[in-house]
Amino acid sequence: MDKIVINKDACIGCGLCVHSHPEYLVFDEMGQADPIGKEVLPEDKKAILETIEHCPTEAIRIEDIKEGEN
Ligand code: SF4
Repeated sequence: MDKIVINKDACIGCGLCVHSHPEYLVFDEMGQADPIGKEVLPEDKKAILETIEHCPTEAIRIEDIKEGEN
């Protein structure tokens, strides 16, 4: 199942992804992007991939996470 993953070592909390996809991401207490764990819907994937391209630190990706692993 496709889910958004954030590399917290790289995220600088610019907010691009959180503001672009509030249904998938929130800010954590450190001000970094935090995925809520929702499965990426097929109709949202293209827009999320565009956001991934624009992340200034390449901190966001989509990963196929098997049920029960996360
Ligand atoms: S776009 Fe990248 S750097 Fe900005 S909040 Fe999202 S993951 Fe962090």
